[in-house]
Amino acid sequence: MWNPIQYSVVVPVYNEEPVLRETYRRLTEVMRRTGERYELLFVNDGSRDRSAAILGELCAGDPAVKAIHFSRNFGHQIAITAGMDHAAGHAVVVIDADLQDPPELIEAMIGKWKEGYDVVYAKRTERKGETRFKRWSAHLFYRTLRALTDVDIPADTGDFRLIDRKVCDAMKTIREKNRFIRGLVSWLGFKQTSVEYSRDERWAGETKYPLGKMLKLSADALTSFSHKPLKLATYIGFALSGGSFLALLITVYLKLFMASTIAGWASIICLSLLFNGVILLILGIIGEYIGRIYDESKDRPLYLIGAREGFAKERLPVREAM
Ligand code: UDP
Ligand code: MG
Repeated sequence: MWNPIQYSVVVPVYNEEPVLRETYRRLTEVMRRTGERYELLFVNDGSRDRSAAILGELCAGDPAVKAIHFSRNFGHQIAITAGMDHAAGHAVVVIDADLQDPPELIEAMIGKWKEGYDVVYAKRTERKGETRFKRWSAHLFYRTLRALTDVDIPADTGDFRLIDRKVCDAMKTIREKNRFIRGLVSWLGFKQTSVEYSRDERWAGETKYPLGKMLKLSADALTSFSHKPLKLATYIGFALSGGSFLALLITVYLKLFMASTIAGWASIICLSLLFNGVILLILGIIGEYIGRIYDESKDRPLYLIGAREGFAKERLPVREAM
């Protein structure tokens, strides 16, 4: 079937009231310049501010704008997933709502796409207006991820990227619950390339990624792409058993030939605390994986939609259009 929409721009939105109109303006400016048909697909991830109302107004004023409203907050990665599920374009661009990713870069991405690349991700060379802690933790995270996984996940890239229709369709077949989209896109393969940019400050509002959410994303990334943490138990177990066997030999030797024993219960308490700590840590890691198995075994949908705006009926998945 002939598809008139060339580009879909997916924008996850969570309490972005102060920036939304500006985001719309900048995106529209860039997308109009392409001279081809496009859609701006906003996914409202259960915002509690006026974001929903603003999106309603934007939809009413511009047929290129579409909005999906989740029934509650499902998280950034799920919002992107819903956007990909509903996108119609031959190329799909994912961009944050807060203008930290400059919309103007989309033109460069489209250029690469037209050269024949299927995935064009944006690589940050600089991060402005982010705390030293965020930059440091992001750096550490990407390096750990690369060390622990076999999938080649490019460092310093976010979810700002362009994917071809066939990559988008492939993404739709992955229904994992705890998703780390940049990892999944790398896992898919296809012809990938990058464009570089310097990450701006948030245009307004504050980050929707507090430490807790960041840790959750990191745990998802590590546990969904690597089993190595589970092997940690084996390594530590070997090391500790070897060490204690040595200690045993030394103790026996001292007792028999030197007629002395090592005194002190303090050292025993310390060792016991250490070993118990290690055991709990490893149980925690195992629990993390079991939790994920549990999540995957529940056959719940990834997200629930409360309302849609701007979609033609024939565009909806068959079951929902009825
Ligand atoms: N976001 C979302 N759901 C959430 C948290 C964030 O849809 O639960 C959106 C948010 O509106 C923004 C993007 O995800 O468009 C990235 O969030 P943010 O800019 O706060 O993250 P940061 O850039 O600080 O890592
Ligand atoms: Mg941001």
